[in-house]
Amino acid sequence: MLMRIGGKESASLDEAWTEVENPATGEVIDRIPAGSPDDVARAVDTAEAAFRTWKKKTPRDRGMILFHAAQNVRQQHKDLARLLTMEQGKPLTESIDEVRGFANILEFYAGISAQLSGDTIRLGAAGDCMVVREPLGVCGAIIPWNMPVLIMGWKIGPALLAGNTLVLKPASTTSLTNLQLGKILDESSLPPGVLNIVTGSGNSVGEALVKHPSVRKISFTGNIATGLRIRDLAHQSLKAVTLELGGSDPMIVMNDADIDKAVEGAVRGRFYNAGQTCTAVKRLYLHEKIAGPFVLKLKARIESLRIGNGLEPAIDMGPMNSPMQRERIEKIIDEARDTNSGTILTGGCPMKEGSYKQGYFYSPTLVTDVTTGSRLVTEELFGPVLPVMTVPDLETAISEANNTRFGLGASIWTSNLATTKRAFDEIRAGIIWVNRHLTVPPEVPFGGTNESGIGRENGHHALDQYSETKTLFLGW
Ligand code: NDP
Repeated sequence: MLMRIGGKESASLDEAWTEVENPATGEVIDRIPAGSPDDVARAVDTAEAAFRTWKKKTPRDRGMILFHAAQNVRQQHKDLARLLTMEQGKPLTESIDEVRGFANILEFYAGISAQLSGDTIRLGAAGDCMVVREPLGVCGAIIPWNMPVLIMGWKIGPALLAGNTLVLKPASTTSLTNLQLGKILDESSLPPGVLNIVTGSGNSVGEALVKHPSVRKISFTGNIATGLRIRDLAHQSLKAVTLELGGSDPMIVMNDADIDKAVEGAVRGRFYNAGQTCTAVKRLYLHEKIAGPFVLKLKARIESLRIGNGLEPAIDMGPMNSPMQRERIEKIIDEARDTNSGTILTGGCPMKEGSYKQGYFYSPTLVTDVTTGSRLVTEELFGPVLPVMTVPDLETAISEANNTRFGLGASIWTSNLATTKRAFDEIRAGIIWVNRHLTVPPEVPFGGTNESGIGRENGHHALDQYSETKTLFLGW
């Protein structure tokens, strides 16, 4: 599949290519251009030219184009979901959710176009001011491979509605669905050059985008080390940045919680997308009074998960996205085994036999007796591994939940209002769920505190990240 610049397909000027694999089978399914800084430069030039007219459209007109594109995405959702499963690995049902989620986001932003209004300030004899919201210009979006479709929506929805134009760099392992979505947007009367997609490596295409002097903002989702480098590079030309850098979300289950519901919440919260979700349940804290029966139910439920190629029917969990991601998890589990920093109750190994042989499968894993300081709880565990800890009371649970450099999400499972209020007040995170985990519809602002990032995506709040005020001061 080719990149998209100015509403058209384009190969890289270097005519270099990268193969895209199906992580369930290891088969090459397509190839994408290995773009270069020169490709970024021509995409930015194209986006700059398109900005001149796109910013002059009314928010309503821009919203109508997003709405039209959402309808076209809905019509093609089955093909898009199949492509997403083939390149990313997740089960087809999850891909369908994600593609529909993308359409929901575009519709949401289309629906709030009227919120791009401004203020008037009356200053008596000094005059009157009119404050309007202006787009920033050409924005750069760098997205990861774990939820490539949803995260593309989170970036393009508010950016385009606010009147910016975009150059988007997809992750190298999951560019195909992003490119196909770009094509649908172009075919939905989005003016050429408003959305451009340049494929290629992070080091080459990603860095060129961040360094380009005409790019006024970078929105990035990915790991902390990359995020910090992007922040430093972006600051050299005073670009605005939004960084979503992952999390190590705690889930706390109190002794007054609905246990069956919480077990389901933990399984979905951890094993959805093979554990490769920024707000997945990455640390489970159980009140000691319910821990025993809870762990037994949890283990049985995890062992009932059906693992396989996401294109097959009734699959609960697919492979990991790449051999590199699987190796990271293998290393952390091997280390936990070698140092006795946890007891592996189920799973704990790559799946390499029979139909799993060619793919990047890892068995769903449950670890108890996790010791303080283990990498199982200090790092972002981006795979199907659930570490469980027991706590004597709410105070300890909150203190353990906050014992992290992250701060993306957290959940408290309880039927007590006072417990809910205390958890909400004291846990440091961008979102606290009560009796659920993971759900982030388009209306809800999303982003982290601490090292989980800077800025918010989603909701009307994201419009602030893609616009700035401009004031007309009338001195009568
Ligand atoms: P990265 O942060 O490396 O990749 C995310 C995106 O950034 C990709 O498009 C990547 O391109 C691009 N990129 C990489 N290096 C640069 C750079 N120097 N300048 C600009 N862009 C760059 O994540 P990984 O794929 O390495 O994942 C590693 C870990 O990060 C995971 O195990 C997980 O812990 C965390 N992560 C968290 C995510 C989240 O949602 N919070 C999402 C993904 C990862 P390319 O694909 O070409 O390398």
